[in-house]
Amino acid sequence: MHTDTRAFAAHPRASFDTAARSAVATDRSGYEPPTLPDAVVHAESVDDVVQALRLAHEHGLPVVPRGAGTGLAGGSSAHAGEIVLDVSRMNRIVGIDPVEMIAVVQPGVLNAEVNAAAAEHGLFYAPDPASTAICSIGGNIATNAGGMWCAKYGVTRESVLGLTVVLADGRILRTGRSTIKGVTGYDLNALFIGSEGTLGVVVEATLRLRPRPVRTETLAAYFPDVEAAGRAASAITAARIQPSILELMDGPTMDAVDQAEGTRHRELGGAFLLAQTDGFGAHLELDEIASAISPYATTVHRAADPEEAAALVKARRDAIPALEKLGRVSIGDIAVPRNRLADAFAGLEEIGSRTGTRIFSVAHAADGNLHPMIVVDPEESITSGPAKAALADMFHLAQRLGGTLTGEHGVGILKREWVGEELGATSVEIQRALKSALDPTGILNPGKAI
Ligand SMILES: Cc1cc2nc3c(=O)[nH]c(=O)nc-3n(C[C@H](O)[C@H](O)[C@H](O)COP(=O)(O)OP(=O)(O)OC[C@H]3O[C@@H](n4cnc5c(N)ncnc54)[C@H](O)[C@@H]3O)c2cc1C
Repeated sequence: MHTDTRAFAAHPRASFDTAARSAVATDRSGYEPPTLPDAVVHAESVDDVVQALRLAHEHGLPVVPRGAGTGLAGGSSAHAGEIVLDVSRMNRIVGIDPVEMIAVVQPGVLNAEVNAAAAEHGLFYAPDPASTAICSIGGNIATNAGGMWCAKYGVTRESVLGLTVVLADGRILRTGRSTIKGVTGYDLNALFIGSEGTLGVVVEATLRLRPRPVRTETLAAYFPDVEAAGRAASAITAARIQPSILELMDGPTMDAVDQAEGTRHRELGGAFLLAQTDGFGAHLELDEIASAISPYATTVHRAADPEEAAALVKARRDAIPALEKLGRVSIGDIAVPRNRLADAFAGLEEIGSRTGTRIFSVAHAADGNLHPMIVVDPEESITSGPAKAALADMFHLAQRLGGTLTGEHGVGILKREWVGEELGATSVEIQRALKSALDPTGILNPGKAI
């Protein structure tokens, strides 16, 4: 153990137990840190967080904030010399104001729990990662998470009105507000959203809820190949139709889902597109979608009832767990302009055959956000060899198409080497200056994000 981390023996919620440390050593990215963190603090209150950060600040000890550990970039992974600050036990919904359509929640509340509580008032919380049942609001905020409904309602950034954050030295900062509008001062809310635990620890959030749509319509379409499905998705955007969900899966991912779930999507084509519309004119918008994709699709099928629609959504949500059954998964998260989806899929196919890697792809197609997933044998590394080469090539492919390294999962530890290339020297310099203004001793999640 690092000598100074013994200072955490003074924290009432600190544990040095090996099983407790192994349970918080990494996330769902497939990344395996070489050593275990020195200790974990299971915070139960804002005071616990303040005390942990004061200790860390005083002794210059690195702290890794952690929510539910479902991240896909190694952002909450930790190693020897580091303390994990786990806030998953701070999991209370403080209140819902159904008239203002606002929820105030602690960071460890799960995304699906917010939605279940909002539903009792005829409301919903729009950013819905496929991991909704297992990921926390604090982690969603720290990664600026996206999801299926983001096609229409925007990512986490568009649904967070205010935050309470504990800074690196233990001070408490309030950002944003509880009103829908408000522009006093710099937008510190936006600075903390997506900062991957490197600027402060979120201990409370004021979230914007929305009225549940009066009507929802769903269709599944099947295509000869993934490039045709990419062209169809781009055609929907070009026709200026606004789906609430537009999700794409390639043939190999359909095979994996069928195998895991006993479904039979692959029999119907080489790629799958799920489209949903909502609101009073949902059925009319779905007609428009059907006609925009008909030149590319071999089968277009409308869900007959909400049960069938839910089963189609579930098939897409199950893609990552289905692939995790095949081996160790390294998940890319590139985003490209929405009219370049087919080019992106063609590029991924070329990368797979050149690097000899198995790449399975899904996409939040309405946002141009692709998740090419490299599956290797469980004992193989994802941070070296062909898997690493393929990840680098994916980033360069996205860059050539006018896109970005990460659409929603964050940089974490796994994509950090390419950040400078995308941002450029001036932006990196300014981002580092912001980091040292808020965390002068560099204790918050070092080696991640920027
Ligand atoms: C099956 C599956 C499907 C997924 N689908 C999606 C998807 O559709 N869209 C999507 O965006 N992501 C998806 N993810 C990724 C993941 O669920 C999200 O990144 C999620 O936001 C992480 O939340 P978490 O609570 O698990 O955070 P963690 O993994 O614990 O942490 C993630 C990052 O946030 C920081 N952090 C956590 N809590 C706090 C806090 N309170 N204050 C400050 N920093 C904090 C950590 O330091 C780390 O950098 C998926 C993951 C899985 C396993």
